[in-house]
Amino acid sequence: MSSTDSFRAIHFDIITLFPEMFDGPFRESILDRARQEGRLNVRLHHLRDYTLNKHGKVDDTPFGGGAGLVMNIEPIDRALQAVKKDRPGAWTVLLSPSGKKFDQKKARELSEKTEIVLICGRYEGIDERVAQTLVDEDLSIGDFVLSGGEIAAMAVVDAVARLVPGVVGDPASLEEESFENGLLEYPQYTRPRDYAGLEVPEVLVSGDHKKIRAWQRQAALKKTARNRPDLMADIPLTPEERELLKDS
Ligand code: SAH
Repeated sequence: MSSTDSFRAIHFDIITLFPEMFDGPFRESILDRARQEGRLNVRLHHLRDYTLNKHGKVDDTPFGGGAGLVMNIEPIDRALQAVKKDRPGAWTVLLSPSGKKFDQKKARELSEKTEIVLICGRYEGIDERVAQTLVDEDLSIGDFVLSGGEIAAMAVVDAVARLVPGVVGDPASLEEESFENGLLEYPQYTRPRDYAGLEVPEVLVSGDHKKIRAWQRQAALKKTARNRPDLMADIPLTPEERELLKDS
């Protein structure tokens, strides 16, 4: 901590039917340290505590028919009201496969907030009135369907918390990462220089910083073009880089 002025903390409130799922991920490594230092604060709220149904039911059959059960709005509304009592300004996010894309840009945006509520769905999803009226946005962590929002919430907390100043020890390590400049990160190598005949690219041990930077840029471009051609449209390329990518 350099000074108390620059100290920032982020608070998450997570509304879920499975709070025990969160025991592991936040007790390891970077996130554990962030919690101990008070930079990351996570409170878990069991949705069942907020249902008025005497059997603890939080879901029901969908209007219009169809398979499975849909989560009721009422317990979610009541849980949110409880959370907002002491965090009235909290930014509220519903995890949903039909939400807007959660990406590095969104993670950066969320990392600038101080209080965030994450709502985890289960079963066939959640009564649409939650998305329409109770939340600031709905976010999807990818084009696939998970069985619940908990793993998505963990991904969001992890990606967002590590962008809070001080959580990752060396801020320089964040700048070069995948997606930060629109590209995937360049390939990295470490000792040994030769592993069973697999050698690291010569230029990286040349000590020539300018050449190394040029190689890293080219390697990042090639990797992005190969693995994520969808990202290439937004990358400004020099004529030489255009040529290079044509051959690869
Ligand atoms: N029937 C829904 C899927 C429900 S999956 C549909 O087709 O859209 C159950 C819960 O898992 C969702 O309410 C949501 O909270 C969570 N979930 C599943 N996939 C997700 C994803 N890609 N991103 C974020 N949350 C997801």
